Amino acid sequence: MSTYLFDPPPVAALAIRGLPQRFPVKRLFFVGRNYAAHAAEMGFTVDKSRETPFYFTKSISTLVPSGATLPYPPGTRNFHYEVELVVALHQGGFEVTPEQAPALIYGYGVGLDMTRRDLQQAARELGRPWDLGKDVEHGAVCSELLPLPGQVLAPAAIGLQVNGQTRQQASTGQLIWSIPELIADLSRFYHLQPGDLIYTGTPEGVGPVQPGDQLRGWVEGVGEVHIRIGAAYTVQTHDQAPQP
Ligand code: MN
Repeated sequence: MSTYLFDPPPVAALAIRGLPQRFPVKRLFFVGRNYAAHAAEMGFTVDKSRETPFYFTKSISTLVPSGATLPYPPGTRNFHYEVELVVALHQGGFEVTPEQAPALIYGYGVGLDMTRRDLQQAARELGRPWDLGKDVEHGAVCSELLPLPGQVLAPAAIGLQVNGQTRQQASTGQLIWSIPELIADLSRFYHLQPGDLIYTGTPEGVGPVQPGDQLRGWVEGVGEVHIRIGAAYTVQTHDQAPQP
């Protein structure tokens, strides 16, 4: 006899390079404005001496693997890519110090924080939550994970191409808050747990995509993420499952 009224959701998980096991994903945390040049293109300056990082989350059901086709989402005319280094945790922690933070790290991936920019900016101006702009179905893309347990990734090139043209190109060495600083700060607000992913913010050069676009993101030494943008939902199919 079944325990549930209907089938529970499948376990969200990512492939791990070189291992048969998959990495079960618990939560998706995102850091805002963690590269100065991206903050500037959004109209902000960041003063690390006076500010702390800020975060938003996406529903676990928004996670999709590299190789997926993302339907162009409803409700937007300005759907943006943001390439990001993703930190995967395999150990929990609460109120950890930056010195203790590396022990929580399992490894790294390359992520895309797909964003309905028009809705995010409208919400920002009205002082409303960012959910409609950020918590987009299929909007949290992540590559397979590279295991580097306990290691802080050395500064690496990060970038993104759309249809073979480079749109984002920077170094993770330009992160305003470092990987250990982010883990330590986030652990002041959450009991971090195995399976949590932290998207560490995007460098400058964010921009729109259109149906048919092919995206390739990379972090040197970590890997690559690939997606294609599919057709927009139509009025006739708004209540149906996405047709990639
Ligand atoms: Mn982002």
